[in-house]
Amino acid sequence: GIRTGQEYLDSIKVRNKVEIYVMGKEVKDVTTNPFLKPAVLAFKATFDSAWDEDTKDLARVWSPFINEEVNRFNHIHRSPEDLAAKVKLLRKISHKVGACFQRCVGYDALNTLYIITELMAQHGKTEPKERFIEYLKTVQKKDLALAGAMTDAKGVRTLKPHEQPNKNAYVRITEVTKDGIYVSGAKANITGVAASEEIVVLPTRAMGPEDQDYAVAFSIPTDTEGIKIIVGRQLNDARRLEGGEIDALPYFYNHEGLIIFDNVFVPMERVFLMRDWQYTSQLVEIFSAYHRQGYGGCKAGLGDVIIGATYNLAKQIGIEKAPHVQDKINEEIFLTETMYAAGIAASLNGIEVCPGCWWVNPMQANVTKHLVTRFPSQIAQLAIDIAGGILGTAPSEWDLKNPKIKELLAKYLQGVEGYTAEDRIRMVRLLENVALGVAFLIESVHGAGSPAAQRIMFSRLYNLSYAEEVAKRLAGMKSNVKFTKKVEPWKESETEKLAKEA
Ligand code: SF4
Ligand code: FE
Repeated sequence: GIRTGQEYLDSIKVRNKVEIYVMGKEVKDVTTNPFLKPAVLAFKATFDSAWDEDTKDLARVWSPFINEEVNRFNHIHRSPEDLAAKVKLLRKISHKVGACFQRCVGYDALNTLYIITELMAQHGKTEPKERFIEYLKTVQKKDLALAGAMTDAKGVRTLKPHEQPNKNAYVRITEVTKDGIYVSGAKANITGVAASEEIVVLPTRAMGPEDQDYAVAFSIPTDTEGIKIIVGRQLNDARRLEGGEIDALPYFYNHEGLIIFDNVFVPMERVFLMRDWQYTSQLVEIFSAYHRQGYGGCKAGLGDVIIGATYNLAKQIGIEKAPHVQDKINEEIFLTETMYAAGIAASLNGIEVCPGCWWVNPMQANVTKHLVTRFPSQIAQLAIDIAGGILGTAPSEWDLKNPKIKELLAKYLQGVEGYTAEDRIRMVRLLENVALGVAFLIESVHGAGSPAAQRIMFSRLYNLSYAEEVAKRLAGMKSNVKFTKKVEPWKESETEKLAKEA
């Protein structure tokens, strides 16, 4: 069934076996810990989206697997419209959170495993699919909060997993028994992990036969013995520990963590890829394209928040009608809508790679993410420009509250009548935290693959020789161009090959 946000909170509140470290201290209850609570509330927003009037039509979707409505974050896409609904929903949730809400990686991991296990079944290996479908049904019935874990610790970047001096630089199978497998290693930069109930682990790169122990995908409850989670720091994070309500903001943050697996047992019914190195290359491409598409939604949503903050700050000091300000806001709108348009295109041009397996359009998904590696910093720069130097120098909320100086600050921080000094500080803090935060500036570059990873896909997916033949024909040179029904200049055949390669 579909859980409420509160039901999710109640479920993760008490976890005795969970081992989570924040700034050197162990945390058991993530729902009350001041450092993690804002990230948990951001995750919770994905549950609330199934109940909120403005998002519930997007967030609720019928699942043929359990014959019930499920939360879209645990849904398997069944059409291009489903893919587009994801992007639309992500944009809307960003408006309520102002940060990354961390549940899409698990969502993309489910959809990736659905395709991969189906491809394995087509090649005669049917157990992974059977196990996966059973797992999917449980996830949908219980409406579980999943984190997806892909990026390994990776050690020396030029060495393959089996060549690493640290044998566990990539998560690997250390032992196989008839009941399951044992795994060791670490997954890094894992979004939302401390707020998750289960972790879906995927391999992070294409593997060869010599790396087969590293070709492993499985799911595991977050509070399994042998799993340690170390939560990372972010700019300004300690403000959350100060106990105020302006500087640390009443709304949300995301968090990332390092997951260490120390000889963890995974029951066989939770193992979806076991030494099947032949499928790792496709798995990585399928997953990364799904997540790259999603960024067109969530990052456009953060763009909206920043546009709104920019406009309001301009109004607070009376410059909103200045032509250069209007022009800069128009530029922010253009950049934001371009990211969104690309994400929608990647969705509506999605591809059915096996019967009922709806994947995004890989070229357009990669374009979406590549725009997202560039545009957010441009949007942030325009916002900084309009907000003024106060964005870097504003006094703290404690100054605003100090009786000896608060009247003076009220006088000197006010611009246009109708806005108070507190309004100014609140909006400056919002802009500072969203526009200069991890989700908008850093995750936009490296999440779902760093910029170079998309550029590799451009040359891989684009049909350069076709384009050359088109140009040669028009130039009157000898050309063997064939105009077929498949008119897309990017290689449809390459996509089909991805699906068939194994
Ligand atoms: Fe979802 Fe965006 Fe966060 Fe990825 S970065 S988990 S797509 S909100
Ligand atoms: Fe992300």
